[in-house]
Order: sequence, then structure tokens, then C-alpha cells
Amino acid sequence: MKKRLHIFNPFIYITPFFKNRIPGQLIIQYTDRCNARCPQCGMRVTEQFRRSMLDMDVTKKIIDSAAEKGIKALSFTGGEPMIFLDKIVELLKYAHDTGIKYTRTGTNGFIFMNPDNPDYEERITKIAGALTESNLYTFWISIDSYCPDTHENMRGLPGVISGIKKALPIFHKHGIYPSANLGINRNMGGSPPPSISNPVEFYESFRDAFRRYYEFIIGLGFTMVNACYPMSIDNGNGLDAVYGATSESPVVQFSSDEKALVFKALLDTIPEYRDKIRIFSPRVSLYSLIRRYTVGEEYCYPCRGGIDFFFIDARDGNTYPCGYRGKDNLGKFWDLDMEKIDKVPSCRKCDWECFIDPSELLGPLLSLMKKPLAFFERAVKDSDYFRIWMQDIKYFSACNFFDGRIPPDYKRLADHKKPVVFKMEK
Ligand code: SF4
Ligand code: SF4
Repeated sequence: MKKRLHIFNPFIYITPFFKNRIPGQLIIQYTDRCNARCPQCGMRVTEQFRRSMLDMDVTKKIIDSAAEKGIKALSFTGGEPMIFLDKIVELLKYAHDTGIKYTRTGTNGFIFMNPDNPDYEERITKIAGALTESNLYTFWISIDSYCPDTHENMRGLPGVISGIKKALPIFHKHGIYPSANLGINRNMGGSPPPSISNPVEFYESFRDAFRRYYEFIIGLGFTMVNACYPMSIDNGNGLDAVYGATSESPVVQFSSDEKALVFKALLDTIPEYRDKIRIFSPRVSLYSLIRRYTVGEEYCYPCRGGIDFFFIDARDGNTYPCGYRGKDNLGKFWDLDMEKIDKVPSCRKCDWECFIDPSELLGPLLSLMKKPLAFFERAVKDSDYFRIWMQDIKYFSACNFFDGRIPPDYKRLADHKKPVVFKMEK
């Protein structure tokens, strides 16, 4: 492993654009083992299949190769990564030492159970201390609903919400500001939404659910939040998931019409809370997804999965363009020749926010550098899009690019209270 000095150099984030690339991202599924029961996921503990985890040396070899290939953001996902806390901490440290600054991992929250046990604070202090030592950039905690019972029943993790509330101040004291991670689902409002046959009621039920969700997590002590879009994979579009975080459960199955309204509800709710909590979800992605599901799929910037973003599967340790293109096995990450990869993106087959959001945020920058005429044409044709995009970029800067090791600067966030007004049919 080559150790690198950590001197912030903005040019390393700009140079990829000159090579027709955007800063790279690698998601490593360290394990598919899990101890939760989420209906929205094929890796829940009740599913019977042979569980896997990556070998430590192999994972370090992948990280070395990622640093050499210029990958800027690295996530360790699961399954439940915190089952292997010590190993994940070691890998996070290792990644940091290779020069990868943006590292992420998270938990379903099981570590916060049994908050009334006498050793609770000591246990959480140890975990927070270890994570601080790892230099991780973002730590996420999944919360599926503003109703504690609904969340705990879905996850099969009783008592976890009060544990999170008790743990957050301890994490903050250690300089870790976790992000609440909402997997959008039909139960997030406590009970299933009304039928889409009344679109206004359907939309309003999600507006209400998003508002209550933000209020709820702010009340718990969170200072950052993200939303995962529902991953209802349509087999008709040729996808074959290697990542088990999909399910045929109705709780995450949404029709195109429903998705457009759910995304619109989130798009409209975010501005009300941008000054109260750092909200990662870029409104420009939601705007594009709404267009995808109303006007046509060509509207979104194509996804950078398989070009700048990659996924490593825990079962075979191989590389895939993402967690959902299982037919495109790219082999070992260290054997991947980045120069030989076709740099023309075209995939718009799913809504995986891990890859869709950065593709949508950075796509316009790449377009500005490579095809300025197309960029300005689009800016003129759809001024709402560019207004929202500019607002997102400014907001991300006010959020210190979601650095989960520092508290929010509420004075800077206050400038982002006003919503962008644009016309779009509900
Ligand atoms: S969503 Fe996460 S916590 Fe829930 S079963 Fe899947 S891997 Fe486990
Ligand atoms: S849109 Fe991106 S994440 Fe989705 S299938 Fe295509 S490459 Fe994968």
C-alpha cells in the first residue's frame, strides 16, 4: 500500500473532466450477511442463501487499485457492515491512507438496540471512537418511517429508535454527524398511501409523510439526511441484479405514475427543510426523474455506472457497472483498464440514487466542458432545470459537501430556505 499525503488539491477533482470523466466512485459490498428483516430487501435474515464476505487482502488490493485509478469516493455496504465493525474500520483507515478522502459506511441500526442496558453508553462510545479513528467521511443510519413502530417492525429491530436518539449526542461528541437514510417505501407514512386513482390525495399523502419524516429525524438529533429511491426493478428492461437490495414486495413497488408523484412530493418538500437539516437529495435529480416518468427517459443525464462508478459484489469479488447489471461482469477491479472503457454513457434503466444523483449533478459540468453548445441549448430550453441545478450546487457548498465530521453551518443553510418556483403539473 502506498501512503499519500492529505493535502487538499481541487485540481484532482477537476482533471477527470478534461478526460471526459467525472470523479470516480466505487461501492464495495463487503458482505451480504444481515441481521434485519426488511421486506424491501432480498438480503434479510429470513432469506435462505449462502452468505459471503470479501477477503481482507483482496479488499485491500481493490482499494489500492481504486486509489491508483483515481477513484475519489468509496463506500462499504452490505448486508449489514457493522456486523464486522473492526474489519470495516480497518478498511476505512486503509482507504484513507491510500488518499481516498470520501469514504462512507453505515448501519441498519442494530448497534443501537437495548439502550437501557447499563453498558450502553460505554458500548456506543467505543463504536463512535473506532469510527472517528477510521477517518470516515459519512456514516449513515437507515430509518424507513417517521413512526417508530413502523420502522422497527419493518426492520425487525425493536427499541432501535430510542437507542439512536441516545447515541447521536455521543457520536456528535466524537465529531461524527450521521446521516439518516430513508429508503422511500409505501409504509413511510405509517400506513399505505391512498390509491393512485386519486393522484392529488396520493401526492398529498407523500408530502405529509416527507414533512413528518424530516421533523421526526430532526427531533431525534440528526443534522443530515438522504433518500434512497424505490428500487423496483422491472425485469422487462433487461436488468439482472447482483446486489440483493431489491425486492418484489409491494412496499417498494411503484408504477411510473406513482414514482413521478412521489418524486414531486419530495422535490416540493425539500426546500421547506433545507435550512434546518442538510438534505443530500439533489432536487435536480428528482426534477429529471419526474420528467423521465412523464415525458420520457431520454430526459435524464445518462448514468455513469460502468464508466466512472463501479460495484464490487461480495459473492464473487468481481466488478460490475452497478449493482443491477449482473450480466456485465467486468472481472477483477485491479485488471480493469480504465482507458479501454467506452466513455459514452447511455444507461437510464433504473433509479439507483447512489449512481443517478452524482451523474445528474455532474453531468451538466461535463457537458459544459465537452459540448458547451448542447449545454447552453438545454439551459435556454429548460431554464427551471438549470435554476434548480445551480441552487443544488450552491446548497451543496453551504453544506460543506456533506462532510459528516463537522456540524452544519445554519447561517449558510438559512440562505437556502426559499423554494425555487417552477411550473409542473402534479
Ligand atoms: S435493507 Fe439493509 S438492513 Fe435491511 S435486510 Fe437489506 S441489507 Fe439488511
Ligand atoms: S442507470 Fe446506472 S445504476 Fe441503473 S442500471 Fe444503469 S448503470 Fe446501473
